[in-house]
Amino acid sequence: MPCGSNDGAASFVIPAQRVDNAFLAICISCLWGLLLCLRDFIASTTEMKVINSPAEMTAWARTEAGVGRRICLVPTMGCFHEGHLRLMRLARGRAEIVVVSLFVNPLQFGPREDFAAYPRDFARDSRLAAEEGVDVIFSPSSGEMYPAGFQTVVRVGSLTRHLCGASRPGHFDGVATVVNKLFAITRADCAVFGEKDFQQLAVIRRMAADLNMNIEIIGHPIVREADGLAMSSRNLYLGPDERPAALSLYQSIQLARKAADRGELRTEALAGLVREHIESFAGTEIDYVSFVDGGTLEPVAAVDGQTLLALAVRINGKVRLIDNGFMLGADRGW
Ligand code: AMP
Repeated sequence: MPCGSNDGAASFVIPAQRVDNAFLAICISCLWGLLLCLRDFIASTTEMKVINSPAEMTAWARTEAGVGRRICLVPTMGCFHEGHLRLMRLARGRAEIVVVSLFVNPLQFGPREDFAAYPRDFARDSRLAAEEGVDVIFSPSSGEMYPAGFQTVVRVGSLTRHLCGASRPGHFDGVATVVNKLFAITRADCAVFGEKDFQQLAVIRRMAADLNMNIEIIGHPIVREADGLAMSSRNLYLGPDERPAALSLYQSIQLARKAADRGELRTEALAGLVREHIESFAGTEIDYVSFVDGGTLEPVAAVDGQTLLALAVRINGKVRLIDNGFMLGADRGW
């Protein structure tokens, strides 16, 4: 029997058609609400967040870790190039959440180094990171990282004695300290570093192991320009006429590798070849040419399968470039 068939109750009966319409309207508005919620949810999970405060970063990371998401950190000083973006892609493959820290760390620059002039372009960096699907850019100020009263320094031992550790006193104390803080703030499960800064990667691995940090340290091979120049934010300082001099670093690694392949294993002789090649370019000033053991970073007299050639060269007194490569075996960065 239809709802409207009882006379006595006729004025209280809603016709079936109206019930259907009302029900439909409720369903549509519920669906619409659901769609809006879904849109907001997707936006909140796909839009990159920018976090400046260490406390907020930790709170956010704690929430993500609480629901079982693995966090991978890519520490950078910004001014992104393809090398940085590859690190982000590697991180993306290792964890649900990718956090990129963007902080030009004053603690790792010497008094006569380029801290103030270091290239900075936050708008471009955040656009590039968003395009890579990064979840969070963590970009604190110096004041937030080193508030008044800050006085703790992390120092790694003999790995920092040679190479950049010798020519940039205090540099690795600054690196180890800030990376330690970044690990703690972001609660990262893994972190990606480039092999271009080979000594830095070795120092971080050592620190993480020595201090039981329970974080996986992942290395990424050197990313190079088509002509072999190792990508670097500092390449921006190079004029077109300085590029051949800058390229001499990679060329000299290739030169030494070929000589070693032909049987010249004495590192003193190889260093002579490297120096000669670099110095044949006007404006080059060698900081160091070192053949070291790839594990201990101690100098070696003869090349073996573990030997790394590490270079630092200043171009026209203003741009300091570094590069490295293992002597025997495949060129891992090419
Ligand atoms: P930076 O912003 O220069 O401090 O570098 C941030 C991270 O990117 C460090 O782990 C660097 O080793 C890495 N990186 C920089 N340039 C390259 C490159 N050409 N290839 C691989 N990793 C790189």
